[in-house]
Amino acid sequence: EGNNSLIVVSNRLPFVLKRGSNGVLQRSHSAGGLVTAVAPVVTKCNGKWIGWPGLFDLGGHEKVPEASDDDKSPTAGLKSNQVIPVNIPENDFEEFYNGFCNGTLWPLFHSFSCKITYDRNSWQTYQKVNDYFAEKTVEALRYQQEVILVDEEIPIVWIHDYQLLLCPARIRELAEDEGLSCKLGFFLHIPFPSYDMLNTLEGSEEILYGMLACDVIGFHIDLYSQNFLESCLRKLGCRVDFDNKTVEIGSRVVRVRTLPIGIPFDKFEECAKNAPKVNGQKDEKDTKLIISVDRVDYTKGLVQKVRAIEKLLEKHRHEYAGKLTFLQIGVPSRTNIKEYQSLHNELSREIGRVNGKFSTADWYPIQFMYKGLPQDELAAYYRDSDVALVTPLVDGMNLVAKEFVACQINNSGALVLSYFAGAAESMKEALMVNPYEVNLLADSLHKALQMSSSECQLRMEKLRARERKFDVHYWMSSFLEEMRFVESIEKPKL
Ligand code: UDP
Repeated sequence: EGNNSLIVVSNRLPFVLKRGSNGVLQRSHSAGGLVTAVAPVVTKCNGKWIGWPGLFDLGGHEKVPEASDDDKSPTAGLKSNQVIPVNIPENDFEEFYNGFCNGTLWPLFHSFSCKITYDRNSWQTYQKVNDYFAEKTVEALRYQQEVILVDEEIPIVWIHDYQLLLCPARIRELAEDEGLSCKLGFFLHIPFPSYDMLNTLEGSEEILYGMLACDVIGFHIDLYSQNFLESCLRKLGCRVDFDNKTVEIGSRVVRVRTLPIGIPFDKFEECAKNAPKVNGQKDEKDTKLIISVDRVDYTKGLVQKVRAIEKLLEKHRHEYAGKLTFLQIGVPSRTNIKEYQSLHNELSREIGRVNGKFSTADWYPIQFMYKGLPQDELAAYYRDSDVALVTPLVDGMNLVAKEFVACQINNSGALVLSYFAGAAESMKEALMVNPYEVNLLADSLHKALQMSSSECQLRMEKLRARERKFDVHYWMSSFLEEMRFVESIEKPKL
């Protein structure tokens, strides 16, 4: 991975800051695969992480606290001066986050055209907030410039996801003005839409130019890479090489790369080996547990799953009544946005309806936990379930599918997976489904529940071997490897 120092820029810091009742700041952890993989590397190369700290009242010169002695999280090694908070005024945050990011870009990039809000004010706020992130990044580059000794040490700036699409262009502009050296990389963690979808957005040109300021742009699957290349050709008229996946812009060549993200496989496997058994669930021999784990989001196909369970019970009532539990873990998400509130209402209503239809004095089919669980607890559910039902209508990748197989240490379960998850590109041994076809979805569920243990094992071993090899550490090394070949904005003058 060379000696290059790494500056990561993401919407959120790798931990959030909480202010205790005494006013003292504390680090509060939330585990994600990206943080697990990237934070130790930032620590090792004495790099930096730039992002929003999760609170509004951070003083201008207030420092991020050092890790406590008993901190065992992946960010424990990050020193106070390696974590750079970006303040977003509370007024801007609403329009930036709930407005443009999640009211416009999220549905647009997932091609949910009916859910898109078009609003000029929130677009302007998005531009402004992207500038805040860029200015903080350039501050860090200025500081870094003083310690660059050899070419090898030119900092890599790695910007993440749809909240920061304009950030690269602003960083390049400021860095070029000041003669600061760096290489710029971007990774998009959600889909990239087709040209005609993107084109409905007034700011689509700026967004493409924003991203093209990078030297390397990474996507999860080829479809998203190709959509991006297509948009650069049609919207901007750039010279595009679809085979080599490059875009010419001015005198630069931007490399587009398909780099599917993985999970911290070993970590999940370890959790699955150590976690206590899930509450009584699988004690009885002929009871079955189906699990789903999603944020409550309209892209996840939550209502379709409930209808598929209904169909399954209609078709095979005697086989499954009293014996089958569908556990939906649904993490509350973006609850300030109207679309998300009405989805939660609809989902609760549908679950109630189906439970009412089939329940007996001592059994009902669907359990709904409307809360998030820590990943070591999730690992136990993944391990002890017979079937994981992963049915997004669109999903950039879907990590839950990968986490499920990592936790299947007995190779005894089956994965039912939507064609429309990025993960479907590689997880070929799953039972593939179209979640819009509720009838067929019910049939696939039945097939998964009836699958012989030898077939389960055969499929699961292959799925597990692939995810073990192409884990999140592999993903990160591949991205940084791509960055190695990039010419810096400006070579330092020695
Ligand atoms: N997750 C969690 N606790 C929960 C439910 C989910 O920590 O109760 C995590 C899960 O382990 C996974 C992530 O949230 O790493 C969800 O990622 P995915 O790609 O499946 O969907 P996203 O929410 O990013 O759209």
